[in-house]
Amino acid sequence: MNAFTYTRVDDVAGAVRSIAGDGAARFIAGGTNLLDLMKENVERPSRLIDITHLPLRAIELTSDGGLRIGALVTNTDVAYHPEIERRYPLLSRAILAGASAQLRNMASVGGNLMQRTRCAYFYDNATPCNKRTPGAGCSAIGGFTRYHAILGTSEHCIAVHPSDMCVALAALEAVVRVTGPDGERAIAFEDFHRVPGDTPHIDTNKRPDEIITAVELPARGFAERYAYLKVRDRASYAFALVSVAAALRMTAGTIEEGRVALGAVAHKPWRDRAAESALAGRPASRQTFERVADELVRGARDFGLNRFKIPLAKRAIVRSLEQAAATNGGGRP
Ligand code: SF4
Repeated sequence: MNAFTYTRVDDVAGAVRSIAGDGAARFIAGGTNLLDLMKENVERPSRLIDITHLPLRAIELTSDGGLRIGALVTNTDVAYHPEIERRYPLLSRAILAGASAQLRNMASVGGNLMQRTRCAYFYDNATPCNKRTPGAGCSAIGGFTRYHAILGTSEHCIAVHPSDMCVALAALEAVVRVTGPDGERAIAFEDFHRVPGDTPHIDTNKRPDEIITAVELPARGFAERYAYLKVRDRASYAFALVSVAAALRMTAGTIEEGRVALGAVAHKPWRDRAAESALAGRPASRQTFERVADELVRGARDFGLNRFKIPLAKRAIVRSLEQAAATNGGGRP
């Protein structure tokens, strides 16, 4: 591990000042991903800026009836917060599908958004990787691709975003609050993470000199009809092969609004509003769900060993929508 210096900051302004102009400095909170990356020499920060003392641990109502979750709230505290369980159970369910209890106790909301891909080549300094070293090449393409993307890929990177929580936040249309030298701004969740394009080393549209302060949930939480379905190689403590966050608003068997976010199939939680729009005004039937699933994966491309993900994603979409439609506040995986 490289030598680094350590700084602790006590307010957001101090955090922004501390990271300004130092592209090799990193914020650290729970450290559940960053420390792994440092041990593997993938991240080599010059400075660690400890943000755990910032006043960002509250979950509070917003003026428009939504909920604001401070960036330092742990994944556990989000999942078990009474208002999250009551109004946003999809988010609670997704968080509890991820990692282990020990990791959820340490991992922060902001860190969950900023976690990096688990592509094995990214962690292996002996292999070329465009995300780790821009221009080096992508070892995954033509390699072991079981866990890699089928949507939004580029010739430079086919990695997936590993979060469960972020899939639910995409479906719920959360907003990410960030603060930087120019003040505060809001980033719609679907604009926060990026597709790889020719810059796979840049994961998000948060600028390096900005800090995440909160994630805001809109008032509508789809608590009546939702499902989070995670398909994985082991029953627990495994990253998804495919995951689906489904949320429906229905009247008398007819869908008024439907949302579907996919995890583990792209460089970011994947939404396709045009495909989702086919849910509105339709009966909550298998035929409707299969049509939407076909649309959602229409542009999918496989890379050999991940070919199974295309039919798997279709089936997972249909099943999660059926679960959301059939249950009333109990969209269990
Ligand atoms: Fe690196 Fe992305 Fe290729 Fe994995 S898929 S080796 S992260 S460039």
